[in-house]
Amino acid sequence: MNHDIARKSAPPAAFHPASAPDYVPAAQLRQLQSQRLQQIVRLAYDNVPLYRQRMDERGVRPENIAGIEDIARLPLTVKNDLRDTYPFGLFAAPMRDVVRLHASSGTTGKPIVVAYTQADIEVWSGAIMRALAAYGLQAGDIVQNSYGYGLFTGGLGLHYGAEALGATVIPTSGGNTDRQIMVMKDFGVSAICCTPSYFLHILDRAQELGVLLRELPLRVGIFGAEPWTDAMRGHIEQAAGIRAFDIYGLTEITGPGVGAECQYQDGLHIFEDHFYPEIIDQDTCEPLPDGAQGELVLTTLSKQAMPILRYRTRDITSLHTEPCPCGRTIRRIHRISHRSDDMFIIRGVNVFPSQIEAALLAVDGVLPHYQIILTRQKGLDRIEVQVEITPELVSDRISVMEDLRSKLEKQIEHIIGIRVTVTLVEWHSLDRSEGKARRVIDKREM
Ligand code: ADP
Ligand code: ZN
Repeated sequence: MNHDIARKSAPPAAFHPASAPDYVPAAQLRQLQSQRLQQIVRLAYDNVPLYRQRMDERGVRPENIAGIEDIARLPLTVKNDLRDTYPFGLFAAPMRDVVRLHASSGTTGKPIVVAYTQADIEVWSGAIMRALAAYGLQAGDIVQNSYGYGLFTGGLGLHYGAEALGATVIPTSGGNTDRQIMVMKDFGVSAICCTPSYFLHILDRAQELGVLLRELPLRVGIFGAEPWTDAMRGHIEQAAGIRAFDIYGLTEITGPGVGAECQYQDGLHIFEDHFYPEIIDQDTCEPLPDGAQGELVLTTLSKQAMPILRYRTRDITSLHTEPCPCGRTIRRIHRISHRSDDMFIIRGVNVFPSQIEAALLAVDGVLPHYQIILTRQKGLDRIEVQVEITPELVSDRISVMEDLRSKLEKQIEHIIGIRVTVTLVEWHSLDRSEGKARRVIDKREM
């Protein structure tokens, strides 16, 4: 039997009570959003000096916000605002009401710190429940959570949401891939959560160990925390015999569970009764109409410990203009194509790692284990793409390897429009991250 066809044509998941807020009629949803926005703006203004100052500067007072349609009158917030107020400067609740702190995995300087009241944790778990229910999971499912546990929001966020759904959670956290595979096999795991790049690594390792994921009860993958492409989804679904769903979120807003795909896998529904999305023009910061691509801006409508007004995510996407066939009334964004700060400019051309990934996957047998190295020689920028070659593609004949290399170079040039150098490297020679993959290494002197 062809598992993919059987799974692909599976009917939409049965309605789960946790999903009820996903189907609230639009007018009622706007009303709820309006009420919540007014409350959250009041909370922020009264308790957070930065918001009060920014609103005063703009001459906006909480009572001027009559509803969700006034949201663009509020000031934007950026990551540096969280850094500048490190650690607790944006908290709106006293510490006795804060039950949890998380921090972002920021690679430079101080991390950013976020806080949750008990009610905030419940909203977050509720959002994760809605995501998992949309993937067709329910009590009785066995969920292996391979997101890192700790300050990173992925581990604990999914953990509590999956428990709230009534699923059985196995908190493996990241790393120790052989043990991950053993658990997956021996415990009858039906769903796994991790970054898509880590799952690719699990897939490879399973193959080396002779474990056929297609033959295990595993049927759902919950992948997020980094951009990935539909080509990568196709590969994963085919190789593992599962359905691979996208989940989106960020620490500043709550963590994973801001949005999730449904059974139609065409964009992510944003749980907009709690996290309100806008798309703005990156340069002018003006709101853009539905359908236009720009930077996603999110406002937390219910978070008590640390309300965030109009946060610039740096993530580039657009809002769907069509309603989803699943019937959910909450809107969808297209998959995040990239982060605005992920892009690199080489010889004047904007390039995104996702384009390189798509090019690699277009060549038969090549997997997207890759790294992009930027250098500058005599004033000229060069891109080198190091690509691991799977053992099956290795050949003793130099001409075969040379052909593969040139095919990859052509495919990449075809997509990004400039010449790159591809270097084939040995299987497993690039760093395999257990969390977010690091795709670009910029060695150019600024
Ligand atoms: P950090 O900002 O330290 O990386 P986060 O874990 O909060 O910490 O990362 C959030 C970011 O991860 C998002 O802003 C987005 O760029 C990326 N991200 C999360 N989920 C997805 C997804 N499903 N697709 C693409 N990018 C994602
Ligand atoms: Zn849908």
